[in-house]
Amino acid sequence: MSRVFNFSAGPAALPEQVLRQAQEEMLDWHGSGMSVMEMSHRGKEFMSIAAEAEADLRELMGIPTNYKVLFLQGGASSQFAMIPMNLIGRTGKADYFRTGSWSKKAIAEAKRYGAVNVTVNSEIDGHFSSVPAADSLRVSADAAYVHYTPNETIEGVEFPYVPATGDVPLVADMSSTILSRPVDVSRFGLIYAGAQKNIGPAGLTLVIVREDLIGTPLDGTPTMFNYATHADNESMYNTPPTYGWYLAGLVFKWLKGVGGLEGMAAINQRKADLLYNAIDGSDFYSNPVDLACRSWMNVPFTLADSALDGDFLKGAGDAGLKTLKGHRSVGGMRASIYNAMPEAGIQALVDFMGEFERTRG
Ligand SMILES: *Cc1c(COP(=O)(O)O)cnc(C)c1O
Repeated sequence: MSRVFNFSAGPAALPEQVLRQAQEEMLDWHGSGMSVMEMSHRGKEFMSIAAEAEADLRELMGIPTNYKVLFLQGGASSQFAMIPMNLIGRTGKADYFRTGSWSKKAIAEAKRYGAVNVTVNSEIDGHFSSVPAADSLRVSADAAYVHYTPNETIEGVEFPYVPATGDVPLVADMSSTILSRPVDVSRFGLIYAGAQKNIGPAGLTLVIVREDLIGTPLDGTPTMFNYATHADNESMYNTPPTYGWYLAGLVFKWLKGVGGLEGMAAINQRKADLLYNAIDGSDFYSNPVDLACRSWMNVPFTLADSALDGDFLKGAGDAGLKTLKGHRSVGGMRASIYNAMPEAGIQALVDFMGEFERTRG
């Protein structure tokens, strides 16, 4: 068996150690005689798995006790609706930052539930390649919350700061950056993320929400879309995504083993530096994003001659470097280098890029 370096934007690579442990425990979890997939979510075995995963996540992120952690389904995309349904009612209005493809989708959905004030729009000539300076942000006094996307997965644009929003709750779509470095959770009203990038397998969606924001949904909000339903029932009102929850727990343990989010951040910084330095040090590759807001997790880059894209992808694939094709809306390449991508994977990519430039550039 040989494993490749998988640069997919999501579902993405998982730590090999986690996969091996899941494999070992697949048929018989801790002497239970069954797979985690086969367990009742209300049985004592799964309850212990669930509680331990939450405790480890709380420890890793330093989540204050007045926040609920919800293990949901529906992906980050469901949160685009669930957030306004639960949070916009207080004033009927919310501020949204428009900084790339995912925030655009969040905005389009929120407009169905209230007045959306787009207070930041960083699109220039059809491209998103920067975010505004922290001190230029304005928050509407009557906004029920401010929504932003700290890391735009498709464009590779990441906020280098957490926006200051005063008393107005800050809501963050952290799908592609959660757990990549420490964050001060108390700065946020709500953090959400689909699991398939930095947490675990697809099908699990994490929501970390301050308790005072729960309980005032819009009239007509379906039971399953009401945060209170899940907060009041430990995310077990209905059947949760049990196997994804378990695997997320293994990933949290793995993160603790690499030194928590501080340790992970140091590794991620080295990985990103290695790749960006290779891009910046060549006349053949380029990345369009402002230096200050380059993503640690998603690195788009183009070749000087796009006619060579196919050959690049073919050669990379032959060298075990997979899923480097850029998003169809951006073109070129994109290397997603989430937590589970080892430094050796970046080194192999940088080596291949250098060789390709020498022989074909
Ligand atoms: C991948 C992604 C999404 C969509 O997630 P789903 O779980 O597929 O709904 C939303 N926002 C961001 C920032 C993403 O990276």
